[in-house]
Amino acid sequence: MATGLVWHERTMWHDTGSGAAELPSGGWIEPHAHFENPATKRRLKNLLDATGLTEQLTVLRPRPATVEEICRVHERAYVERVAVLSAGHGGDMGDEAIVGNGSYEIALLAAGGVIRAVDATLDGVVENAYALVRPPGHHALSDRGMGFCLFGNVAVAVRHAQVERGVGRVAVVDWDVHHGNGTQAAFWDDPSVLAISLHQDGCYPQGSGAREERGSGRGEGATLNVPLPAGSGRGAYLAALDQVVVPALERFRPELIVIACGLDAGGFDPLGRMQLSAAAFGEMTARLLDAAARLCGGRLVAAHEGGYSADHVPFCGLAVIEALSGLDAGVDDPFAYVDGQGGQELQPHQRDAVEAAARLVEGVPA
Ligand code: ZN
Repeated sequence: MATGLVWHERTMWHDTGSGAAELPSGGWIEPHAHFENPATKRRLKNLLDATGLTEQLTVLRPRPATVEEICRVHERAYVERVAVLSAGHGGDMGDEAIVGNGSYEIALLAAGGVIRAVDATLDGVVENAYALVRPPGHHALSDRGMGFCLFGNVAVAVRHAQVERGVGRVAVVDWDVHHGNGTQAAFWDDPSVLAISLHQDGCYPQGSGAREERGSGRGEGATLNVPLPAGSGRGAYLAALDQVVVPALERFRPELIVIACGLDAGGFDPLGRMQLSAAAFGEMTARLLDAAARLCGGRLVAAHEGGYSADHVPFCGLAVIEALSGLDAGVDDPFAYVDGQGGQELQPHQRDAVEAAARLVEGVPA
């Protein structure tokens, strides 16, 4: 059985306009490219194609998510506002959640893409799957967009798995460099979803993602935040996987694991200050594959989130997909030198952060 790859060219047509970095152009900002543009994701797909890997994967064509599926996570009035804005000239649905003309249909396709990946994995059509979709989703809240995200793709797919497919416990492991605040909010008081986020401490949203944020009510302990200091590399991330994430998964015993696979903790990302290499992303994926094999019959789905280095992201994504599939594209990573840079090994202040997070594992619902 092959690894599934969800891809639809139309998701690359989501138009975030002519900003500079994440800011709108205007004033003294000369129009340039918005960070969340198609290049990173399209270049990953191109690399998969050029190396011949795509042919060895099972390419899955997504369908749009239905409004009912989206409304398991979002308020209907918000969904309708996105549709109205998208039918016109677009605008901003919240904090840097840009809607272009047609973005509504594309955002439905992105959420539907993660649903497709989940369904194919649950059906055993594929062994596991990678949903290469945009716009990303993990910042979106029930009633507003945030951080380039319109609909919570992963949260919508998790609810689909539970409501339509009879899956009980689901774990989300979000290693996007930014806090997965939207996913956290969607499952805040829900003990059936373990929402783990590894992120750069205090990056985005600022003031969000502290270890003290652990869920509430019956969901207390099922939110697990692992903020890591800026500058963290392979050593810190693998320590966090080994000492926090995998033990938490073992305690929670999910029936499905979904990776919110942001690649912006890579060492060249303009929106993060971490220094992961492609190989490190591959090692992290291998850790979760192993956990999924032991805990939930290998049921593992990765959904693309952020990642803004058009040069580096393709290699990081390739490493994740190689790990998922067990295939070797035969590519010498031209950016592997980041692994030789100082500070890749676990540093004392990073170890303190990992150990503090590890103490939260005993609070995860068993
Ligand atoms: Zn991000």
